[in-house]
Amino acid sequence: MNTPNHAHDVFIVGLRNAHAMEKQALSIMQPQVSRLTHYPDLSQRLKTHISETEEQIGRLDIILERLGESSSAIKDMMTSVSGSMAAMGHAAASDEVLKNTMANLAFENFEVAAYLSLLTSARLAGDTESIPALEQSLAEERRMADWVEENVTSVTETFISLKASGETAKI
Ligand code: MG
Ligand code: FE
Repeated sequence: MNTPNHAHDVFIVGLRNAHAMEKQALSIMQPQVSRLTHYPDLSQRLKTHISETEEQIGRLDIILERLGESSSAIKDMMTSVSGSMAAMGHAAASDEVLKNTMANLAFENFEVAAYLSLLTSARLAGDTESIPALEQSLAEERRMADWVEENVTSVTETFISLKASGETAKI
């Protein structure tokens, strides 16, 4: 039994996975922002969260560096490609904005779980220094998940009213 050592190992793997997850988050959000034309609130919120995500990556970099680990560029690159492909898949759909909204809500909740797990590993590993930064990222993910959930209805209503007026509703 050596809980702190095991927790440390789980923490390092979790930090690397979170780093790849955040790169994937960028590759899911950036194509959406560049295509959106009819949903200004959604576009603005995605832009804000892209900036937050860049800061989250910076926080993970600082922790990994302090623990003597460098982030895995190759693995990040591969998950980033699959994120872009998921967003591109929705681009073909006539209800692109609805599919992306559903995917965004799923992704933000995945991120909430990832940071909760990281915080647990950090605590059991005794790495109290990492906790404030991870708490900050967790709070940002929760705010984004809440925002997306609260906006599913309005995005759907806008989608339907644009369609009813003969406008392009999908983006
Ligand atoms: Mg994030
Ligand atoms: Fe997020």
